[in-house]
This record gives sequence, structure tokens and C-alpha cells, in this order.
Amino acid sequence: MPENRPAVPRELERRLLVEAGHRCAIPACRSTPVELAHIVPWAKVQEHAFENMIALCPTCHTRYDNGHIDRLAMFQYKENLRLLVPQPAGELKSLQRARLFILYRAFQGKCRFWEGAIGSIALADVNEGPEELRQSEVLECLRSAEEARHALVQLSLALSRGGVSEA
Ligand SMILES: [Zn+2]
Repeated sequence: MPENRPAVPRELERRLLVEAGHRCAIPACRSTPVELAHIVPWAKVQEHAFENMIALCPTCHTRYDNGHIDRLAMFQYKENLRLLVPQPAGELKSLQRARLFILYRAFQGKCRFWEGAIGSIALADVNEGPEELRQSEVLECLRSAEEARHALVQLSLALSRGGVSEA
């Protein structure tokens, strides 16, 4: 290791290892043990940054340094990890919250639609309009009730997956 190159901070090392599941980040390899590699070489960037680092086994690390694995491929492997690995707890919670909120709004919207459909039937009754019109309002009402029920099921599923306190 060249001098004046600081050690990788413990927390950063841990994040990188967890990101790759403590295995070589190349999907078809997944060997152990692992080392931390800079995707754009340290000599160029002179910093340890999470986005530019990846866990590799010594063999893949050497192959990368020798140019047998190109940089674009390595960035692709890094990108793959983002998709594979669960988000940190904080991000997961805010994602869950956002999802619950969207589902709740969807449910609310369907209920409003349903309410409107009931109102239309009442109006059709008062106006004593043509029977077909009332029939179509009734169908609309049943459809929106079904959609509201579906939205409610989606919402309760999301809530039962442990998100109650998040809401
Ligand atoms: Zn490997």
C-alpha cells in the first residue's frame, strides 16, 4: 500500500462488505475472502468513496487491475449490488411510508368515486330519469365499490407487513 494513502474507514469498509454480502461482488464468482477495490483507481481519485468502491476476491481484484475486467463492467457489477441489497433501514422506512401513503390516497380516491356513484343513483331516483341510466349508475357504483374494496385489501396487506407504526 503506497504511503500517504489513508486506511479505509471502518464504517465504509463495513458498508461495502454488507453491500456485497461479504463475498466477491462479481455475480458468477461470489468467492471469499474479499478485498476492497477502487473502481476508478486510487491513484486518480485519491479518496475512498462508497460509490467508487467494491468488494472483490483477490483473484478478481488482480484480474481487474490487469485489465482483464474492464471498468464499465465493474460499474455494472456495482450497480447490480444496488438492486440486490436491501436499502439501509432508514431508507426502507421512508419507502414504506411513501408506499403506504400512496395506497391510502388510492383507497381514499376510490371511496370518493364510490360516494359519487351513490350520489348519482340518488339523483337518478329523484329525477326519475330513464331506467337504463339508473342501471348504468348502479353498475358504476358496484364497480367503484369493488375498486375501493381492492384498494382497501392492498392497504391492509401493506399495513400488516409491519408498517402500521410507520403510517
Ligand atoms: Zn471474484
